[in-house]
Amino acid sequence: MRRLPNHITATMVRDLSICEHRFHLDLAGDHAKRDAVGVFVQMLWAGGMRHEKEILSTIEGPVADLRDVDLDEREEETSRAVAAMAPVILGGRITHADQLGMPDVMRLDPSRGYIAGDVKSGAADEPGGPTGRRCKKDYGVQISHYGKILAQKRWGPSGSAFIIDHDGEEVEYDLMTAIDNRGTTIDGLHTKLLSRARLIRNGCIETSPAASAACAQCHWRSSCRRELEERKDPTLLPQVGRSLRHALGPTLASVPQIAAMRMSNYSTTNGSCVLKGIGIERLARIRDRAILLTEPDAKPFARRALDLPVHAHEIHYDVESDPLQGGVVYLHGFHEVVRGPAGVETRYTAFFAYDIKDEGTAFENALNFLAARPDAHIYIWSRFERTSMRQLQSRYPAVCGTEEIEDLFREERCTDLYTDVVLKHTEWPLHSYGLKKIARYCGFEWRDEDPSGANSIAWFSSWLETGDRAIRDRIIQYNEDDVIATARVLEALRLLEVRQ
Ligand code: SF4
Repeated sequence: MRRLPNHITATMVRDLSICEHRFHLDLAGDHAKRDAVGVFVQMLWAGGMRHEKEILSTIEGPVADLRDVDLDEREEETSRAVAAMAPVILGGRITHADQLGMPDVMRLDPSRGYIAGDVKSGAADEPGGPTGRRCKKDYGVQISHYGKILAQKRWGPSGSAFIIDHDGEEVEYDLMTAIDNRGTTIDGLHTKLLSRARLIRNGCIETSPAASAACAQCHWRSSCRRELEERKDPTLLPQVGRSLRHALGPTLASVPQIAAMRMSNYSTTNGSCVLKGIGIERLARIRDRAILLTEPDAKPFARRALDLPVHAHEIHYDVESDPLQGGVVYLHGFHEVVRGPAGVETRYTAFFAYDIKDEGTAFENALNFLAARPDAHIYIWSRFERTSMRQLQSRYPAVCGTEEIEDLFREERCTDLYTDVVLKHTEWPLHSYGLKKIARYCGFEWRDEDPSGANSIAWFSSWLETGDRAIRDRIIQYNEDDVIATARVLEALRLLEVRQ
């Protein structure tokens, strides 16, 4: 039998914030049932470690570097470095009660004591919250863990910690500041997670799997999937996650139960839903999705007539970017559909950044390509292209202004098929409404044997290392198939039966 660790680490708290069942399985699950770690995750680890090493090697001045000290002696060495008031401590190990932290860096602030932080290979913060920017939650709860241990040891303040991001910029956060309009703070989130972690570790709370985007890269995915399918779990329905499953309650605990529900049993006389946290319209959509997954010959449908006029010139646009290289956008791909008197012509154009430093040129070429086709209607799949273009504009302001980017994505010029059409107005007999699932349902197949955005990132990394043209061609072919798939889905959307 595996011995359960007493300590709760910052990484465990981060994992719990993503999936509480993973936290439980990592502690107490049968590790023989784990899947092999995927290539993408291995690459993330290797890239993260490389980046951390590079960044830490640039820290100047007197440094107590404990990274090579044996783990058993590390805590004592950290205490010694703190007692000696080392200005910077690398790779320290700090504990208090059942909490353990290994911050990448501890920096001495003369007036406040030690402030801890981690090196991350992504951006430190994200859009959102009252100030427009906020610390990423999964990063935030990790550094909050360090801050609390330091405060309990009286070595530093509790509510402050920092991230050194992919650009090497050190960003300090006040973890007591609200990150949303409900007044949630990272410090408060960490406190809740820590207490839940203790309850799960001590066996006071049982966890169960819930299908989510996080499962794709998780080493428990096969075992969880089997369990979810065996009990026909509600989270197998698109956009039903753990909290919605909780709200559905014990009488709607499986897809067949949801499909068989009588809506009248769940609505009050004034038309609202008796279940807390779910509106009646949402419940009806969840039931429709369950019916589609349980009926043998179920067909997709639109909830209203879709406004998808056929344009003489259409452009399906998709970018590929690499979060491991600071979000570099390495490919802009365009599939054009041109309707003329002689019939329909299609062609694919790609602007590839052969090297990270070519990102700006690829961006400029992509913008010129779109500017030369002002009458073409642009189709994208999700908000990602718009977000990427905005980021590129802020990285290369000399290429264009913000208005030019906003103009590209205004409603008359561009349609986001996933966010504004598929998610809002259509239903499919599928477990998820991602492009791969819907396009395959529509009969499209990718030429690559293992197509995925994560693989594209891994291939780009290999391309940078090897310069192998076959790898570059694979990336471009994958992108081409993605944009052709979007065009195929658009055709299917135009033909969907409308049920109002
Ligand atoms: S596969 Fe999904 S549900 Fe299972 S532990 Fe991983 S993230 Fe959680």
